[in-house]
Amino acid sequence: MADYFKRDYGRCPCSGAYENRFVEVRLTVHGKVVVLTEVPQGACPSCGSRVYKGEVLERIESLMKAKPSTTRV
Ligand SMILES: [Zn+2]
Repeated sequence: MADYFKRDYGRCPCSGAYENRFVEVRLTVHGKVVVLTEVPQGACPSCGSRVYKGEVLERIESLMKAKPSTTRV
């Protein structure tokens, strides 16, 4: 399927189509709040389910796993 190469999220299990949008994601990493802006997200207008691209999840995971910064001012 050529659809595979499109940069979209495909279909939701509810049969709705995910909409591409950009959101702000707040994470708490080692007690510090990290805000990621303009994170691409797929949102289903029918059922409200949300998905992220694999590369976005990897980035979030690597942030969560990152060691606390030793740099202190
Ligand atoms: Zn849906």
